[in-house]
Amino acid sequence: MNNHMAPAWMVSLHGGHSRAYCDHAKDDLETLIQTAIQRGCRVYGLTEHAPRIEAHRLYREEIAMGWTTETLDRLFSEYAAEAQRLSRQCADRIAILCGFEAEVVPEDRYAEIMQGYRQRLGFVYMVGSVHWVAGHIIDYRQEDFDAAVHACGGLERLAVRYYDTVAEMLRRLRPEVAAHLDLIRKCAPDESSINTPAVRRAAMAALEAVRETGAILDVNTAAYRTGKSHPYPAPWLVRAARDMGIPFCFGDDSHSAAHVADGIPRARDYLLEHGVRAIIALVPRADGLEKVEIPLV
Ligand SMILES: [Zn+2]
Ligand SMILES: [Zn+2]
Repeated sequence: MNNHMAPAWMVSLHGGHSRAYCDHAKDDLETLIQTAIQRGCRVYGLTEHAPRIEAHRLYREEIAMGWTTETLDRLFSEYAAEAQRLSRQCADRIAILCGFEAEVVPEDRYAEIMQGYRQRLGFVYMVGSVHWVAGHIIDYRQEDFDAAVHACGGLERLAVRYYDTVAEMLRRLRPEVAAHLDLIRKCAPDESSINTPAVRRAAMAALEAVRETGAILDVNTAAYRTGKSHPYPAPWLVRAARDMGIPFCFGDDSHSAAHVADGIPRARDYLLEHGVRAIIALVPRADGLEKVEIPLV
């Protein structure tokens, strides 16, 4: 049953990963959408991970399941078709946005590849993420993060390179949403270790790229689920973004039905606490997506 009492700001623009298309997700796409309807979301963005086209970037779990880069490519096309079918089927109950989460690999040509997916598979928007730095995935396992630290010559250098990659990604891809801006925090041994002047300068340059490209900043609640006291991005980045006039959205980064809309009320309190009074939703219209401001109070 649709929960008509849910507030209008119960909107996620980043999430909807599902098990048929993502090795580390649970529950199928239809279940996630039904949950979003039950929890009163009026707009819900589906942003499955773009496939990796290089075999050395496959996750161990994918290899163990017998998946190849061809598998990922086929599943991604199937995801696009199923998301569009469910979007039409549920259109009277919820506005489902069919998008995807872009990757920054292969480093030399990801922009063309991601734009190609967008056009060929009919996605209406893109969430821009950096999960790979110096050839290693930075939000997956500690040992991969440690390998990235080693490859960059230290934690501070990794964090600077991460933010440099975010800024470059935003300019090359021009995604509608800038995902989990300070994801580099996830596996860092302690957050103060990457809060140095050089890292803060690089993070501010990434934020400047968000402003310049007009992206919406994802307030990503996955951080709560790993025990962090605040979502991505951290308070100082939220206040800086607010002062720069950068718009915000929520992302539940759901990888299961239990994650759908999870943490959004808490993230709303967080934004209010830091002086942000509204979010932006993307709403489908006949001629594309419209940015609609939704007050948080
Ligand atoms: Zn994922
Ligand atoms: Zn991500």
